[in-house]
Amino acid sequence: MTDPRPLKITRDDLARATPGPQASAASVRCPLCGAGNDAAALQCNACGEPLESAKTKRSRPRSTPESIAFARRSSVALFVLAMLGVPAPLVLVFGSTLLVRRHRAFVDAGAAHRALAYSAVLLSLVYCGLGLVFLIQP
Ligand SMILES: [Zn+2]
Repeated sequence: MTDPRPLKITRDDLARATPGPQASAASVRCPLCGAGNDAAALQCNACGEPLESAKTKRSRPRSTPESIAFARRSSVALFVLAMLGVPAPLVLVFGSTLLVRRHRAFVDAGAAHRALAYSAVLLSLVYCGLGLVFLIQP
């Protein structure tokens, strides 16, 4: 029994079968064997190696409990230092650096600690401004 219809391969079939630039951009390369895998694949379909990029894409990277605890401690410390006024330039530099570098941890630390850290930086900015005005005054 043979199929009477002739086997016809259209241009669309070829486009679907051959991985184009879009397909390779969306695929994940296996770090072990180098085989291309679907972007949503959790494991390599050639060797079974777990694919990290697929995992990290699915779940939002969470802060570790240590980094959250550090963010909470430092937000309190920054606020206390900012209230003192004199270490304001230090608070401004360290505080803004911490907030940028460990932004995720400060977000996970909670709104109260985040507000504390931001107000510490703002307060130190005001102190620095006042200090500059005081120094510039003849
Ligand atoms: Zn592999």
